[in-house]
Amino acid sequence: MQWDRSNTIGMATETCKYCEGQGTRVVYKTKASPCNCVFRAIFRACLTRFRDCTATGAAFGTVSWEFCSGPGGRRVYSRKQEEYMADFCLVSRRVLDAEDHRLFRYYFLLGADWQLCARQLKMDRGNFFHAIYRIERMLGRAFSEIRPYPLYPLDEYFGGTVRKDAGRALEAVPSQDRHHLQVPLRLIA
Ligand SMILES: [Zn+2]
Repeated sequence: MQWDRSNTIGMATETCKYCEGQGTRVVYKTKASPCNCVFRAIFRACLTRFRDCTATGAAFGTVSWEFCSGPGGRRVYSRKQEEYMADFCLVSRRVLDAEDHRLFRYYFLLGADWQLCARQLKMDRGNFFHAIYRIERMLGRAFSEIRPYPLYPLDEYFGGTVRKDAGRALEAVPSQDRHHLQVPLRLIA
């Protein structure tokens, strides 16, 4: 994702004390970078979609017939919801270290409350929420910047918007390499 003011300001937290709702902050005195509140908002948007996908479990198996832009106007079959859920889990596992991933699993995927997580992981309240903020920030950045299939923006991932290079990226990856992405829920167990 190419960051600029137009795509950060919409995700920024109005009351953020670092960017004051602007979505960008200056790092190394000259460089503008998306504020952490933007990454955390991106993570929460992706998490909400993940929970929506798990809630509609009865509709699993539905395939969609999607356009890929590019010279041939190619179309592919896809199981978007399962792919999204698998990507969400796999990217999280890759980005977080073992300790953070355990916390991520307990708190975000399995839905335990913070007191139970903190007791199990022997953390105090301050350290617990510090870790939660760190996880949200790291995953928000990863979900929006990972290549070639960023999870965010969600409308691009789910095919509402087709990017010019999306078709090319898909063609470069043999279909059998993506089969592992269709194994969703047991990944979080
Ligand atoms: Zn901010």
